[in-house]
Amino acid sequence: MVMMNSKSKNTYDAIVIGAGSVGLPTAYFLTLEGWSVLVLDGEASPGQGQNKAAIGGVRATHSDPGKITLCLQSIEIFEGWREKHGVDIGWIGGGYCFPVYREEDEKLLTDILPTQKSYGLDIDWVGPDRIKELIPGINENGLRGGTYSPGDGQVSPLKSASEFWKQSKERGCEYRFGEPVTGLLIEGGRIKGVKTSKGVYNADVVVNSAGSEARKIGLMAGIDIPVVPDSHEGGISAPMERFFDPLIVDMRPGPGGKTKNFYFGQNDRGQVIFCYTPIEPIIGTNRSCTSEFMPIIARRLIDLIPRLKNMLIRRVWRGLYPMTPDGIIILDRVREVEGFYLEVGMCGQGFMLGPGVGLNMAKLITSGEPAIDREVFDTLSFYRDFGKGRAEALK
Ligand SMILES: Cc1cc2nc3c(=O)[nH]c(=O)nc-3n(C[C@H](O)[C@H](O)[C@H](O)COP(=O)(O)OP(=O)(O)OC[C@H]3O[C@@H](n4cnc5c(N)ncnc54)[C@H](O)[C@@H]3O)c2cc1C
Repeated sequence: MVMMNSKSKNTYDAIVIGAGSVGLPTAYFLTLEGWSVLVLDGEASPGQGQNKAAIGGVRATHSDPGKITLCLQSIEIFEGWREKHGVDIGWIGGGYCFPVYREEDEKLLTDILPTQKSYGLDIDWVGPDRIKELIPGINENGLRGGTYSPGDGQVSPLKSASEFWKQSKERGCEYRFGEPVTGLLIEGGRIKGVKTSKGVYNADVVVNSAGSEARKIGLMAGIDIPVVPDSHEGGISAPMERFFDPLIVDMRPGPGGKTKNFYFGQNDRGQVIFCYTPIEPIIGTNRSCTSEFMPIIARRLIDLIPRLKNMLIRRVWRGLYPMTPDGIIILDRVREVEGFYLEVGMCGQGFMLGPGVGLNMAKLITSGEPAIDREVFDTLSFYRDFGKGRAEALK
């Protein structure tokens, strides 16, 4: 590594493409390692890509070891932020709760409990009475119980983006906004820097953190990354008095049979923030809101918690998940182009994965080894078999 003060103009140890959910923490952790870093983004300020579309749910209670270990690290970073930096990023440690009404959902959730417990996750099946305490006013008709994981929580995506930006800037990181990367400089199989709409910047390390645009950046290096944009809608209410703490996931299909998991929570301002997963993925970059989103949400919310029938909606939006064919993220060093790294394909969990990804990628880049177990990290490889879905994703 070359020390910061010995760098010539426009030359850095590393360039991060994208000031989003994963690029910002990566820049922060690279500056903590003493590296000089430039972050480039086509948007006007930090977190303006898909980061701000997220509803802020943060959980480690997945079934995949890579996501579990990275999210455990993310939670530690988010939860400890106020104590370490003295700034509130909207952390609410209210856990995640999956209330269950169907036998098949109970089986699915209880089947993965042993794996989750083997990673030390604090999650259990609880009976209907506990669910009623956690979610006052929940529809009791047919309620079987559910899972509750008190260690999970919620964070404000915009507050945390702004904090990673500020803290990294204070440690010398440079940011250039409104400056999209238009090309990569590659010589003899090595990355040498990037070209933007306004200039040329040099570095021996370039990190692709371009979210739903990651494939375009890969193609600039002749690398075809199987990441496609898949659109999802979200919305937020006016603030109201806090009456539940967990982020809630209802796994039942919604009215009309077009939607599956429905997620919502009450944020640090008392606003209810929500989204759902369509059964059929909606591939493409169309971000216009649909006329079916709110009627489906309203039905689902009122069915689950009837007292929410008077809730006022403040706004809705549509964002893009950067999807991989197998739903697992990609963290790797590109073998064909030395110095080119990928932290892409964050799917629907890039916000919660961000700090863990940033920490591990910074370690990988600066020392050659990630912070988590190498075997687990390698399950996230760009060179894994994506199965049949790969060809489909690249269409
Ligand atoms: C409705 C909805 C709800 C969600 N809820 C959650 C949730 O509760 N929890 C969770 O973990 N995730 C959630 N997500 C998913 C989450 O938003 C994404 O997984 C995450 O933001 C992706 O992070 P990223 O850093 O890869 O992309 P981004 O945050 O989009 O960052 C990529 C950045 O790259 C920049 N960029 C692109 N091309 C270029 C270029 N050529 N040059 C320079 N810069 C470029 C973009 O402007 C952008 O700022 C949700 C998503 C949606 C749509």
